[in-house]
Amino acid sequence: MNIVIFGPPGAGKGTQSKFIVNKFNLHQLSTGDLLRNEIKNKTKLGSEISTIINSGDLVSDEIVSNLIEKFVSNDTYKNKIIFDGYPRTLIQAKNLDNLLKKYKQKIDIVLTLSVSLETVKKRILLRQTEEKRTDDNEEIAIKRFKTYEKSSEPVLDYYKQSNLLKVVNGEARISEINSEISGLIDTIKGWL
Ligand code: AMP
Repeated sequence: MNIVIFGPPGAGKGTQSKFIVNKFNLHQLSTGDLLRNEIKNKTKLGSEISTIINSGDLVSDEIVSNLIEKFVSNDTYKNKIIFDGYPRTLIQAKNLDNLLKKYKQKIDIVLTLSVSLETVKKRILLRQTEEKRTDDNEEIAIKRFKTYEKSSEPVLDYYKQSNLLKVVNGEARISEINSEISGLIDTIKGWL
């Protein structure tokens, strides 16, 4: 079972991914974490992307697609991936389908966490005090939310058309979101 978790910055994708990983024995593939690791490890790629990430823009589709392929092609993770923060554009969504097809896999469900800009701002400011991410400040949070608004619609439409999309209220309490997501995953597990 492969899952995509979608939503604006601060929607709780990371928190919910960790919960799903533990409960359903999957592996989290967070493109944001992979990119931040490149910066932390001072790689060539890291130096190329740090300005982009810190300004709240998206890194190129090509860069993230290459990172994703390393994971998808690894047998350890076969049919056990939760994609957190990928895809973010229509090109990435189509690329993911092709890539999964190449490795004889598919997406089973797309969970989208819906939250308002007000909630995003509050959560990101809270996360800033905990994780000290350089792109977590109010100005960049707004920019990231706007980037999400611009690029998310075609992705959501794409998954709506393939009947994979489930909308989850990301404003609810974490435990409530956990149980809603569990219920949705249990339903699809019944089909597999
Ligand atoms: P996240 O941790 O998912 O909030 O991602 C942090 C930042 O990493 C984003 O604001 C983007 O600059 C970059 N990033 C993460 N995932 C992607 C992606 N799928 N496509 C392009 N840029 C991404």
